[in-house]
Amino acid sequence: MSKPTPDVYEQGKGMDAHNQVMREIRSRKEASYDPHEPTRVWLDEDNTPGGVKQSLTIILNTGGCRWARAGGCTMCGYVAESVDGGSVSHDALMDQIDVCLAHEAENGDEPAELIKIYTSGSFLDEREVGAETRKAIAETFADRERIVLESLPDFVDREKIGDFTQYGIDTDVAIGLETATDRVRHDCVNKYFDFADFEDACAEAAAADDAAAEGADAGVKAYLLMKPPFLTESEAIEDMIDSIERCADVSGCHTVSMNPCNVQRYTMVDELYFSGGYRPPWLWSVAHVLEETADVDAIVVSDPVGHGSDRGPHNCGECDDLVQKAIKDFDLRQDPSVFEQVSCECELTWEAVRERECGFNQPLTR
Ligand code: SF4
Ligand SMILES: [Zn+2]
Repeated sequence: MSKPTPDVYEQGKGMDAHNQVMREIRSRKEASYDPHEPTRVWLDEDNTPGGVKQSLTIILNTGGCRWARAGGCTMCGYVAESVDGGSVSHDALMDQIDVCLAHEAENGDEPAELIKIYTSGSFLDEREVGAETRKAIAETFADRERIVLESLPDFVDREKIGDFTQYGIDTDVAIGLETATDRVRHDCVNKYFDFADFEDACAEAAAADDAAAEGADAGVKAYLLMKPPFLTESEAIEDMIDSIERCADVSGCHTVSMNPCNVQRYTMVDELYFSGGYRPPWLWSVAHVLEETADVDAIVVSDPVGHGSDRGPHNCGECDDLVQKAIKDFDLRQDPSVFEQVSCECELTWEAVRERECGFNQPLTR
């Protein structure tokens, strides 16, 4: 891992204790990565405000998240995949894009209408992806319909979004809000910004939308984290229902992606998990939140990564695939009746957990 300089420590944000622990855990990572290769690239399909689209997802290998180098979020191991040294040149980043285009040409029937770019940090942070590279990437994908760019709210501004909308591309900024509750975001996730900053970023996207070329839209896709460490199953459910409702009410935010926490290496969640102090959420909880919020004015989706495994969201082992399938169905159709068709004996255990798990006895089950 690269040695952080003092200015990336982000001192004075009231989170030095969590950051100190996270820095120590992350410093155990030893791998390093080639700056000319993307972290990952794959083809899939996604539900967007314009309907279900073929998508190309790119995880660019940039210098990694500045906040992660300061210590960072308790569940996030992504910095462990970033390039040593903390920055990647324009040419290397464009080589990564070429690798992704070659992957698409080889594996897809035609160019994907939707491009999603994540960076293990913030695509709109110019210390990760400079203006020259951002503009070149916009030009590369000028003929696509829609693009999703990941960023922390601090870096969202209407001009940067305008680099994309000027070509008529619908542009969404994906923001890892994690929860609408500031206390949970600060104390459980160790993420420094406030809900008000998210609202400001949505306002920037809305302004970019007003200024956009004919036919191009700009908006925000909020990413929420279900069950950060230190919350019980029932607290996590309540936090997600409230967060989805609050996000859907913010103008400019058209999609909410609610994702269950999984146990990633080199994180505080991993330490807790190994000491018996953390269980990822039940898939029943994910289904329940989606059912409860099906009538909000936003697309709500969920992508339970690692479902069915101990380190990912899971039920009893027997019904995990069925519930996961219902969730994926819901993502595409937004119809809560998909959940009526799945049931399992372990729902009783899940209900008991919701009733009886509390701060000092969790997790009640594995
Ligand atoms: S979740 Fe995002 S902000 Fe937090 S450490 Fe990871 S990449 Fe950085
Ligand atoms: Zn079950």
